[in-house]
Amino acid sequence: MASTTSKVSRRDEDGREHVVHVTKSGPRRELACDTCDWRQGAQFLPWLKAQEHLAEAHRATIDPTA
Ligand SMILES: [Zn+2]
Repeated sequence: MASTTSKVSRRDEDGREHVVHVTKSGPRRELACDTCDWRQGAQFLPWLKAQEHLAEAHRATIDPTA
């Protein structure tokens, strides 16, 4: 089964971009942060978990695509 990867990126107040990659593998999704070594599996709402990590760990809440 092919896995697909998407990402959630947010900028912090200094303009640095932080990225969490979301890899889909069957029913599960793996989250992986580029900035730190945070990893987490998620079955539901992986993008929400990624956003929460970015906000809590890196104070990155600005959506660069918005
Ligand atoms: Zn992180």
